[in-house]
Amino acid sequence: TSWTVTAGAVALPHGRGAVLSFEDITAVEAAEAMRRDFVANVSHELRTPITALSGFIETLRGAARDDPAARERFLSIMEREAGRMSQLVADLLSLGRVEQEERQRPTGTVDLSALVAQVAALLEPVAARDRVRIRLELPEAPVSVPGDEEQLRQVLSNLVGNAIKYGGADRDVTLSLGAPAQHRELRGAGVRLSVTDQGEGIAPHHIPRLTERFYRVDSHRSRAVGGTGLGLAIVKHIVNRHRGRLRIESAPGQGSSFSVILPAS
Ligand code: ADP
Repeated sequence: TSWTVTAGAVALPHGRGAVLSFEDITAVEAAEAMRRDFVANVSHELRTPITALSGFIETLRGAARDDPAARERFLSIMEREAGRMSQLVADLLSLGRVEQEERQRPTGTVDLSALVAQVAALLEPVAARDRVRIRLELPEAPVSVPGDEEQLRQVLSNLVGNAIKYGGADRDVTLSLGAPAQHRELRGAGVRLSVTDQGEGIAPHHIPRLTERFYRVDSHRSRAVGGTGLGLAIVKHIVNRHRGRLRIESAPGQGSSFSVILPAS
């Protein structure tokens, strides 16, 4: 089909008229274009490590065959590329799952205070590699919300992981959890969970696009730190499923703050 109008009225013979809406067609076409983009992106993301692996296999068979130091170096690059592929596949599976579950309300209850402490402990060794200090700001009384524990753990570890990756070495990453309060965005009671870093920040025009699949401010940097470009897309779907809001506040040179506001009940 080659519709060029998005909506319109047509005159029919004998003075009859009809109003046609092409909105459905454009929506279907937009969805189809998005799907094509997604497949093209996935193929591209996979092709890069596969090309690297094939190249190094060739080199190991040939030039580097009798050079133990070169072999070792190439093998570690191959290991890294294989790791990149498996991270991509894991993120794709996660994304598929969270998209599928987005319409089902989560049924559990999650102790966010415990979860924050858990994720901080889990990522401590990763932070330590970059001499990043994880600071916690927790309210005195434990805070729980309705939700899916596994998914909220993923939200938090993606945000803290990014804060470590993009926050820069020798800096702090702060995880803060607020006590339940009224939140205008939710038109009701909610809990705010924020991850703040002291990194280089993000220019305003990038901010609205960060949760798109494969959108990166700096692809080279993202790949160098092991990013897949899917982390915030996954976060967005999970937050939607919880009827929450994701707020991103950042300015170049001033660090970034990613906050999730979840309904308290
Ligand atoms: P990636 O796997 O590339 O990190 P994400 O979806 O998690 O993918 O994030 C998308 C992009 O948003 C990143 O590539 C990076 O450019 C930017 N970004 C995410 N978190 C931060 C942060 N804390 N500081 C600066 N930029 C960030």
